[in-house]
Amino acid sequence: MSSWLHRLAIANGIAPRPFASVLELGDGMWSPRLDLRLPREVATLLTDRTDVPHETISAMAMTGPALTPLLLPLRENVRRNRSTWMQYCPQCLAGDEVPYFRRPWRLATRISCFVHGRGLRDRCPACRSGIASFDQTELMPQHFCARCAFDLRTASKVFVKTSARRLERSIDDICKVEMAKGRS
Ligand SMILES: [Zn+2]
Ligand SMILES: [Zn+2]
Repeated sequence: MSSWLHRLAIANGIAPRPFASVLELGDGMWSPRLDLRLPREVATLLTDRTDVPHETISAMAMTGPALTPLLLPLRENVRRNRSTWMQYCPQCLAGDEVPYFRRPWRLATRISCFVHGRGLRDRCPACRSGIASFDQTELMPQHFCARCAFDLRTASKVFVKTSARRLERSIDDICKVEMAKGRS
């Protein structure tokens, strides 16, 4: 949802930060908060203005209670030894026609990309800040760091041990089975 909103803003010639006021939302992590809870009036406004069906818009938010405990906490500013709120795979972003951030990258249980087999990054390698697309004041796509404009697609690859990736897969499989059963 947040990633789509940033693209929607830029496609309409307005940077993500001022786009928050278009939706009558406040400061800080306005779009990541919508991933967690989408107010009815915002959903209605988006449906009316974009012609995207209401169900499609609602489904973009990560509102399932089953996933909530696994999500990385929303942190606008991060210290070196804390997690950030969003991870990314540079190769996935590089392969996108219009780069976007995937839902599984929000999960604390995910450490690597299942497509490329490399570790996910959770900061800009140039300035070490977390992903702050919600704070972007320029008309720049979200694969450029909002703090220093580094192209995140060019970040170097991160190696992850096979044993760690195997464990990650197991956790993902368990979660899928439990969610299919409707358990939290
Ligand atoms: Zn990838
Ligand atoms: Zn940066």
